[in-house]
Amino acid sequence: MKNFFDLQFSELEALLESLSQPRFRAKQIWQAVYCNLVSSWLEITNLPSQLRETLQAEYSFSSFSLTEKINAFDGSSTKFLFELSDGNALEAVILRSDERITLCISTQSGCPVGCVFCATGKYGFYRNLTSGEIVEQVVALARLLKETGESVSNIVIMGMGEPMLNYDATLAAIRRFNDPRGLNIGARRITISTIGIPEKVRQFATENLQVNLAISLHAPNDPLRRELVPIAQKYMIASILSACREYVDSTHRRVTFEYVLIDGVNNLPQHARELSTLLKGLLCHVNLIGLNPTSHYSGRAPQKQAVRDFGKVLLDHHIPTSIRNSQGSDIQAACGQLAGKLTGRSRSS
Ligand code: SAH
Ligand code: SF4
Repeated sequence: MKNFFDLQFSELEALLESLSQPRFRAKQIWQAVYCNLVSSWLEITNLPSQLRETLQAEYSFSSFSLTEKINAFDGSSTKFLFELSDGNALEAVILRSDERITLCISTQSGCPVGCVFCATGKYGFYRNLTSGEIVEQVVALARLLKETGESVSNIVIMGMGEPMLNYDATLAAIRRFNDPRGLNIGARRITISTIGIPEKVRQFATENLQVNLAISLHAPNDPLRRELVPIAQKYMIASILSACREYVDSTHRRVTFEYVLIDGVNNLPQHARELSTLLKGLLCHVNLIGLNPTSHYSGRAPQKQAVRDFGKVLLDHHIPTSIRNSQGSDIQAACGQLAGKLTGRSRSS
């Protein structure tokens, strides 16, 4: 069975043409799937029944199944563990804040980058998701939200995996989220977070998308970054920042730098000063986030005051900075922590 969500609109048109159907059928189906959020062909009642049966025999609207759902104590977030058709795991989260409902979605099952503090990194890498599997996460969660009269306002690509190592599928999915005939989620309400692959950041700059770009930096110098982020052996901070400067020059959009603070490791005053010097003059914003505890890493988040002190150094150097709270840490919102449960897998360190 094929996954409907792997189809581009033009591919659906071609498919319908091959079945001698009029062109408007593609729009009808697209609207039913992405606007009305139907979950079966039978619900698309404005299609001729024979066409419905033909499509139903070939294309499915659900390529993965829900295995576990955990609500945060305060109701602010819900985490979902899905099982893909080949048994691999996938995690996605609904995050609720005052006026927004944000979906945090995955681009890979696991992640090959292996950051030491990240549960997904510990879990290991299984495979890239298809564009359909990335799109389907949003549709599946949007269907659940619809049951309570809610809808998606923002998407963050910050779940399992490194999106720029699954670039084409991720970009195809972003274009689908953005499609005004379908989900119609504005590009400015979508954020892609990456560990920073310079050539992919450059490619992303040419996509002519208003999507927000976040780079997970976590350290102000290469030796320290290499301790936390193994791929830093390959990509120097200077080369990531040079790609970011080109991105800003060509898109006029600012870059967000994510910095996970780990007490006594990357949160010393000298690190804040070094970071300020690095980012001076770059159109950017820094998001500080206290480490979310994971079972395999002994690091701790600094005290709240220490986080504020770190931020103050950046602000004093005129680097726009905010402190992001680690929403849903009681439900293990840092992705990758649930997946091990499904498959019993987790790299031993
Ligand atoms: N691979 C991409 C996107 C997925 S990770 C990236 O690294 O950017 C999304 C964000 O969660 C990253 O900024 C990552 O550093 C952060 N993160 C991972 N593990 C964390 C933890 N234990 N505590 C806090 N943030 C974490
Ligand atoms: Fe992969 Fe991002 Fe986790 Fe690093 S932080 S292991 S890049 S998911």
